Amino acid sequence: MIVFDLICRDGGHKFEGWFGSSGDFDSQKAAGLIDCPSCGCSAVDKAVMAPNVGIKGNQRSSRSSTSIEPSKPPLPVEGERPITKAVAVPAEYQELVAKLAKAQAKMLEQSEWVGNDFSERVRAIHYGEKEAAPIHGTASADDVAELEDEGIDVMPLPLPVMPPEAQN
Ligand SMILES: [Zn+2]
Repeated sequence: MIVFDLICRDGGHKFEGWFGSSGDFDSQKAAGLIDCPSCGCSAVDKAVMAPNVGIKGNQRSSRSSTSIEPSKPPLPVEGERPITKAVAVPAEYQELVAKLAKAQAKMLEQSEWVGNDFSERVRAIHYGEKEAAPIHGTASADDVAELEDEGIDVMPLPLPVMPPEAQN
């Protein structure tokens, strides 16, 4: 997914459009499918390009993306962060999330990031093949269901974790 900041020629209104590729913007524009949400005119141009923030496939912010709806929602990818461009995030919410982020970071201080090896590692610990140690990583919903079937307690983290290799 790619997001473009768009601007309408008539009123100078700025808005966002999501596209599968920059080619999609050109073809949708040529077909007159993109129109300004403020005044409805379809003479739109790209404004300054915004970085691709890796939004999840099920969070669409513009109706201009409906024509490129994939047949099934993509699975969350490691390191991808849910994100919102909220009109107004209440201060209490921001505070709460900040507290939660702090609590989670503290909780994970002693924990080792194992990425995609999570299921394998937690299983090895459960069956005594490895010494017990706090670990965190990523697992698919299927992996989690299998672990639960085996009686292994795992807990989804409230907030996504940035893999250490992705931090700079
Ligand atoms: Zn406009």
